[in-house]
Amino acid sequence: MARYIFITGGVVSSLGKGLASAALGALLQARGYSVRLRKLDPYLNVDPGTMSPFEHGEVFVTDDGAETDLDLGHYERFTGVPARMTDSVSSGRIYSNVLEKERRGDYLGKTIQVVPHVTNEIKEFLAIGDDEVDFMLCEIGGTVGDIEGLPFFEAIRQFSHDKPRGQCIFMHLTLLPYLAASGELKTKPTQHSVKELQSIGIAPDILVCRSEQPIPEKERAKIALFCNVRKEAVVAAYDLKSIYEAPLAYHREGLDQAVLDAFEISPAPKPDLSVWEDVNDRIHNTDGDVKVAIVGKYVQLEDAYKSIKEALTHGGMANRVKVNVEWVDAEVFDHEDPAPYLEGFHAILVPGGFGERGTEGKIKAAQFARERKIPYLGICLGMQMAVIEAARNVAGVGDAGSEEFDHEAGGKRFTPVVYHLKEWVQGNRTVARKVDDDKGGTMRLGAYSAALKEGSKVAQVYGGCDIEERHRHRYEVDIKYRDQLEAKGLIFSGMSPDGRLPEIVEWADHPWFIGVQFHPELKSKPFQPHPLFADFVRAALETSRLV
Ligand code: GLN
Repeated sequence: MARYIFITGGVVSSLGKGLASAALGALLQARGYSVRLRKLDPYLNVDPGTMSPFEHGEVFVTDDGAETDLDLGHYERFTGVPARMTDSVSSGRIYSNVLEKERRGDYLGKTIQVVPHVTNEIKEFLAIGDDEVDFMLCEIGGTVGDIEGLPFFEAIRQFSHDKPRGQCIFMHLTLLPYLAASGELKTKPTQHSVKELQSIGIAPDILVCRSEQPIPEKERAKIALFCNVRKEAVVAAYDLKSIYEAPLAYHREGLDQAVLDAFEISPAPKPDLSVWEDVNDRIHNTDGDVKVAIVGKYVQLEDAYKSIKEALTHGGMANRVKVNVEWVDAEVFDHEDPAPYLEGFHAILVPGGFGERGTEGKIKAAQFARERKIPYLGICLGMQMAVIEAARNVAGVGDAGSEEFDHEAGGKRFTPVVYHLKEWVQGNRTVARKVDDDKGGTMRLGAYSAALKEGSKVAQVYGGCDIEERHRHRYEVDIKYRDQLEAKGLIFSGMSPDGRLPEIVEWADHPWFIGVQFHPELKSKPFQPHPLFADFVRAALETSRLV
């Protein structure tokens, strides 16, 4: 039976609960335990799949095809444990399950209430797989006191009582604001936040206090006294230069020890932190830097491309260089020469995206990279745009486009080199979709394997020909243009196992130009950089040496 750690937050949002959870997961692993991390989100969307990246940041896709919160990306990057569909839930999903059961008559005519029906549904979710790992870390989104969060807080309170004593602990993250005028760290907001938690029956075992300044012993003692926690269980969380410093920083502050103490695990197994020491060494001891442009649409909110940014950092770590990322809005040069915007970069990355806006700019970016022989990595939409560019400017299909744009515009303006995929094979079954299906969860989602062409650039990069990567798309490059494009040098170097869906394209006579239909960034880790990102940064480094 797993031990449960519930992670909540108070005072303000964006304190880094996800990072603290992920770092704690990594520290427990370093002590030899198996872990699983989960996110419970109070919002009413059934999943983040339909939420705007401008608002909510990236949608993280799991191997089993769930569209989840970006915090699951942190969890995976820090623990290496592949996230699953059952690691993410929202109020929307919980209510939708409860209402479905009600309609089916499962509740036998009972009046359906938040307690016990909604809370039971949440508890059932929490219990999934509890015999599989040593520690289950469950983060509750939002802050204590949010109206939407109440059923979740009530459910974790009940859950801790359903389990034997000592099986669950509560860790609460708060902020210690610093008043420069008086030169003081203020503990009152933390005290209030803990009171709020206590008023709903939860007494935190550990307090993680975010602070810009060192926390004096006196303040630590005060927090412990007023918040009813042990002094050693008041753990400081200071600002870090890199998120990958978090495991070592939290270890120094005693977080993992405090957790083991709270569970009364004694003697505590000694941690092996060599992986994180190496990661830190690679971040801090770099030799040179490269400049990479991410040419996208959602450039105002960096979280929209969270995993890509992290994967580039990992690629930098693999080469011991610093990767400086600049965000370039593709729409700006939709009708202009992109050169003034793209010159000076050592590599160009066009990420995934939806809708027509900014696509002409992305097509121009692909053309610029091809003609100037700048390393190019096209991800999902970025691959589709590279193929459209090749069709238009090299293979003579002057009006090549994607059905995604025509569908939006309601007419036929393009020759659909990229078409709406309505049927594909998953394992040994066929999946079918209609154009007017619901928007949520209807894409080709999750892990699919691909066969790489022997002798191709990607086969060399991956060091093999069989790969499995995560997908999230509705449209697909039409294989009927393969011969025409290959004759001009755009090689279809990765295909779905049935040979029907192009997964990877690459230019034969280019130092590094690769487009992938999937999202390699989702599987990259600091201690295991994804080969495509490691090699892309290596190619960027070569470009930087040429100029
Ligand atoms: N909009 C494109 C599609 O649905 C690309 C999706 C993506 O980049 N994730 O195929």
